[in-house]
Amino acid sequence: MTEHRSTADKDVATHLHSYTNLAALPQTPPLVIVQGDGIHVVDDQGRRYVEGMSGLWCASLGFSNQRLADAGAKALQTLPYYHTFNQRTNVAVADLAERLLALAPVPMARVFFANSGSEANDSAAKMVWYYHNAIGKPAKKKIIARRNAYHGVTVAAASMGGLDGNHRDFDLPLATAPARFLHVDCPHHYRYAEPGETEQDFSSRLAAQLEERILAEGPETVAAFIAEPVMGAGGVLVPPAGYFEKVQAVLRKYDVLMIADEVICGFGRTGNMFGSTTFGIQPDILTCAKALSSGYVPISAVMVNDKVHSAIAAHSGKLGSFGHGYTYSGHPVACAVALETLKVYEDQHILEHVRALAPAFLAGLQAFADQPCVGNVRGVGLIGAIELMADKTTRTPFAAEHKAGYRLAQLALEEGLIVRAMGDSIGLCPPLIITRTELDDLFARLARAMERFQAELQ
Ligand code: PLP
Repeated sequence: MTEHRSTADKDVATHLHSYTNLAALPQTPPLVIVQGDGIHVVDDQGRRYVEGMSGLWCASLGFSNQRLADAGAKALQTLPYYHTFNQRTNVAVADLAERLLALAPVPMARVFFANSGSEANDSAAKMVWYYHNAIGKPAKKKIIARRNAYHGVTVAAASMGGLDGNHRDFDLPLATAPARFLHVDCPHHYRYAEPGETEQDFSSRLAAQLEERILAEGPETVAAFIAEPVMGAGGVLVPPAGYFEKVQAVLRKYDVLMIADEVICGFGRTGNMFGSTTFGIQPDILTCAKALSSGYVPISAVMVNDKVHSAIAAHSGKLGSFGHGYTYSGHPVACAVALETLKVYEDQHILEHVRALAPAFLAGLQAFADQPCVGNVRGVGLIGAIELMADKTTRTPFAAEHKAGYRLAQLALEEGLIVRAMGDSIGLCPPLIITRTELDDLFARLARAMERFQAELQ
């Protein structure tokens, strides 16, 4: 009997989904994606969609890159698995580490590998704690993050994140005494600036708030600050002018490490190899994932500078070992695919392509600004968002039960375009290989969805 079940039926009966209303799943069967080509994916009914989000902000080279498939196949045939514990290594991981250090936005000393952005950020948090124990500052353990931040779902990563949905009833942020995970305001100028407050003034206010918080906590207890260059899942929030410059001046004053979470921004998304370059961030620790392999295989990385690495290395010498690492850290197949991804970026001049296309992308977003229900549009490189408002003149959001963002995303899907609703902000993060013609097609689909959305409001 079970052989005749559709994939959707089988899936609903067996698969515990990520980020899904599990109770409603039987009434809203999943979209079954069976294939991908270029910037498109195809469902089991043969419907083709423009993947306006690169999956989960990751498939930067689209869904059918032959070079990545070949690199993976070759690696599987050569050395399908080996680990990196106890002085073991493999060719691909050493090559990839060398390549990443060469690409790093600031001088970095070593690269640690994991499988996901969450694991990379959990590893970064542990390294921050280990580092401060190593340098004889065991009280310096608090990590400051921002509300609306997204750093993943493992216990430390979700604790650093600032989205309610990742905390509520998961008993997070992890409760410790004293608290190790603190949150300050997020730099969403459109939503949180005072009337008439410039971006520079808003940034100064947030930096002052950060300093007050550090002083209130006691600088001797504050270990690190973690930030996405552009906040992704929080609604694609591009930092206001001067933000990172002002924040980092505070961090330096109180000897607080800077962690850049480049899981979305890394590898060209903002028009530079890293968002840190775009926004003048000088991280001590940098985490990346997603576009590191164009999402084709799970892999993430944590880069640490010499200050962090030399202390960690010396401390591991005292303890006998750096007691951290995953079975799949430096997996040879994942590293081979990542290495090939980085080569493709170079061979296909992906950075130049993003820079050339960014003005058209941003203009395409801007074209929605005049819509009665659009309060704000924002973006950089090839990542952006459109924020919906029930009344843009008074900046009144839609009532939550209206599910405005979700509805617009549904209409876009019907128009053959996949976008992401983050509350009432609609995110766009297309594959970096998108052409000008494909970009025009993407915006034409979104415009049709927007027209239908507006019509439903009448
Ligand atoms: N950090 C950022 C900025 C992310 O956007 C994400 C995922 O979207 C993560 C971390 C977590 O990555 P993963 O889902 O691979 O654990």
